[in-house]
Amino acid sequence: MWRLPFYVPSRCLSFAEIMSKPIIFCVIGTRPEAIKVAPVMLEFQKFADVCRPMLISTGQHKEILYRSLETFGLTPDVDLEIMQHGSTLAQVTSRALEGLDGLVAKYQPACILGQGDTTTAMVAAMDAFYRNVLFGHIEAGLRTDSVRNPFPEEYNRRVCAVTADLHFSPTEWSRDNLLRENRDPKTIFVTGNTGIDAVLLAAQQKDQPWYPDFNGRVILMTTHRRENWGEPQRQIATAARRLVEAYPDTLLITAMHPNPMVRDVIVPILGGHDRIQLIEPPEYGLFVKLIQRSNMILSDSGGVQEEAPAFGIPVLVMRDTTERPEGVTAGTAKLVGTNEEKIFEEGNKLLGDPGAYKAMANAVSPYGDGRASERIRYLVLKSLGIQTTEVPMWD
Ligand code: UDP
Repeated sequence: MWRLPFYVPSRCLSFAEIMSKPIIFCVIGTRPEAIKVAPVMLEFQKFADVCRPMLISTGQHKEILYRSLETFGLTPDVDLEIMQHGSTLAQVTSRALEGLDGLVAKYQPACILGQGDTTTAMVAAMDAFYRNVLFGHIEAGLRTDSVRNPFPEEYNRRVCAVTADLHFSPTEWSRDNLLRENRDPKTIFVTGNTGIDAVLLAAQQKDQPWYPDFNGRVILMTTHRRENWGEPQRQIATAARRLVEAYPDTLLITAMHPNPMVRDVIVPILGGHDRIQLIEPPEYGLFVKLIQRSNMILSDSGGVQEEAPAFGIPVLVMRDTTERPEGVTAGTAKLVGTNEEKIFEEGNKLLGDPGAYKAMANAVSPYGDGRASERIRYLVLKSLGIQTTEVPMWD
């Protein structure tokens, strides 16, 4: 399965070097990719006698990516630093592709791994295709009904699926989506989501302070999605403020995304209240402690939707559709959209009705068992002709 590159590399590794220790590119660009690839990178590092993992960042995100990696003691081996203020998606794509292509030519990886649905992941898939390198897609098979929603993520993940040699699906539902698209069943593996590996690793860390020092109920909120910019985020913030005002025993913590499009809308609505804290995005370890401390989460984040059920924390998902229906089916997440009244009504139900709360506060983890990275390590190395300890698949 491991194919030797057919192009002329700019720096020639010896044949023995290539054959003895295949290089594995773990490509990331944004915070969620950093978090979900970190456990995979750590897993490959345990097998450094047989492979050489390299963490490559395109630099789509900067500070929040580095802060997330800190939790795992990782830094990128290479950062392409492609991001410039006001870049269009086309510019991000072309800079990332050109940068990554140069690295592939230089290091000749035996395998490229991309994660999820970002422009970085799509570019990793494209360059692996152009360079005829084995491509593994982590978190494969999530789908919504429209290629345009979420934009551009749905398009990105579909592109990844077209040429992936190995599809690492987090759940059976995502595997079935790939089967419906006629992907070869022999290339699809239900591994669980590496995000669950990450959240369990972070939760084990003992030295994180518990935050905040508050005796009542904590509502944690994150909102950043492009489709919620503007009016939807105004309604989200207004509903959250109304909930805090309706329940004097609650504290709302909003971990603010750095994007000014988000801050400009929510800060004027949520600022100046003594039970609302607007905080800079905490590094991952602390954010996980915050999830655990929360009584209810309001979020439009994909990753948070997956993490909260691992601790039985109810999540109101402020989106109209989700590519992660498993939490909704399991009953720990509810799709509430972005209408102010609807968010308030559902939040009010959870905060005011102990029965409704109990029904949602189930610690089930439909997204994984914390061993996805081991499975991915086993499958990738096996594809490269290297036998390591096998872990039974999650399905
Ligand atoms: N996260 C974090 N600090 C924060 C907010 C989120 O570490 O202040 C983590 C969160 O636990 C999850 C990931 O970032 O693992 C989700 O990132 P984001 O919501 O930006 O992206 P999405 O998952 O929606 O693609």
